[in-house]
Amino acid sequence: MIPFKNTYAKLPSRFHSATTPAKSPAPTLIEVNDELAKELGIDPEWLRSEQGLAVLSGNTIAEGSEPISQAYAGHQFGGFSPQLGDGRAVLLGEVIDVNGNQKDIQLKGSGRTAYSRGGDGKSALGPVIREYLMSEAMHALGVPTTRALAAVTTGEKVRRETPQDGGIFTRVASSHLRVGTFQFFAAREDKEALTILTDYALKRHYPNAENSPIPAINLLNAVMSAQVKLVAQWMSLGFIHGVMNTDNSSISGETIDYGPCAFMDEFHPQCVFSAIDRDARYAWGNQAPIAHWNLTRLGEALLPVIDDNQDKAIELVEQTLNKFSDEFLQHYLTNYSNKFGLKEGTAIEFIQDSLAMLAEEHIDYTLFFTYLTDYVEDETSLANFESLFADNDICQQWLADWKLRHDPAKLDTMQNTNPVLIPRNHQVEQAIQQAYQGDFTLFHRLNQAWKTPYQKSNNNQDLQLPPTKDQRVLQTFCGT
Ligand code: AMP
Ligand code: MG
Repeated sequence: MIPFKNTYAKLPSRFHSATTPAKSPAPTLIEVNDELAKELGIDPEWLRSEQGLAVLSGNTIAEGSEPISQAYAGHQFGGFSPQLGDGRAVLLGEVIDVNGNQKDIQLKGSGRTAYSRGGDGKSALGPVIREYLMSEAMHALGVPTTRALAAVTTGEKVRRETPQDGGIFTRVASSHLRVGTFQFFAAREDKEALTILTDYALKRHYPNAENSPIPAINLLNAVMSAQVKLVAQWMSLGFIHGVMNTDNSSISGETIDYGPCAFMDEFHPQCVFSAIDRDARYAWGNQAPIAHWNLTRLGEALLPVIDDNQDKAIELVEQTLNKFSDEFLQHYLTNYSNKFGLKEGTAIEFIQDSLAMLAEEHIDYTLFFTYLTDYVEDETSLANFESLFADNDICQQWLADWKLRHDPAKLDTMQNTNPVLIPRNHQVEQAIQQAYQGDFTLFHRLNQAWKTPYQKSNNNQDLQLPPTKDQRVLQTFCGT
């Protein structure tokens, strides 16, 4: 039993559309996230039961649920689509978790909706496995993110380039409000809806935001701070979202929509994995300017509810967005000072020069910080750090520069900010390939290992290693 509330379904009808999930012919359970279920006040044993599986596979509508798909718009790779919406997702409803926070529960891949356009609304198993692994790993790494409650197979083939096994992913989010949700109503000049949505978003996510007497400015300000913090965290972990369209940019500041995302192995600021991101719009190093661009679109959408005098409204939006750079820089500096274990007040140039050196030397980003941390803990491990460099002179020179700025008291901080394990792309891909063979062993292993990414474990040493040349997976796909 799930104690559903349906607050979004109760908003005016133009916000959503009722959807009955499609039935799955022969569903099987891949995984239930017991810890998350308990946090949501749902009995994991019930979720694992036949009744639970029926809900997770779309075969039964849970008691108390009023399933809907949400309307939204969005800029995709810079071009505006006024009509997107949940084309393959159904919001079952919301629950209040043990901490008193309201959470959405959504099925992803459960068939066509009013917003499916040409798509089938289904999901192949690959994207289900990817989103499960990635979102839970991100959570364990300490990054705000949507979560994985469950994954099932449907027993049905979906048509992609070749027929593939279908799956349904159950996603939990603080909400599924996006920048694109506001754009949907702005494009329709629906001021009333924008007012309702602003009020809903503030109550749900930022009840204490009080910078300005104007609610929409409060919201913009709060979303900006949340997204700035998020993107700075992504960057410090080497995470590339891959498809930062405004419809994938969440109002709560959580990472959402794990399509072509990936973690970098070798560091490069222009690193891109997504096969469709041909201009490297969403490269690692572009993520902050893109977040600013997306927030500008949010500001634009909110103009009608900021002030009737549009010049004044624009000025207020600009004043808010002008704070972006400073806020971002502050997070970026703190995160990297922690990763490098730097003395208070170290100039940003050292960070930038070090990252440029990493790119130049093709060094594995995660191992660099892991081995540096190991070296601080135990000097005899220096050889591991040195082994990352093809040129030992460059290594020694960098170490000498770093020692001048290093604060030995920061060992704990380094250990808590430099993960030993990240979800490496080749490992995720391998788990997906196995899943298509009906074997979920690696999926389960990775899922378990990535729950404690900052802890060393003898059982998981192999998972620390970057891919060999043959194992490298350099492209990812949305999988839609
Ligand atoms: P994305 O950028 O992958 O999150 O998706 C962009 C838009 O395409 C969203 O509105 C999705 O709901 C929609 N979409 C993606 N895949 C499908 C699908 N298989 N069927 C219907 N709509 C889809
Ligand atoms: Mg999306």
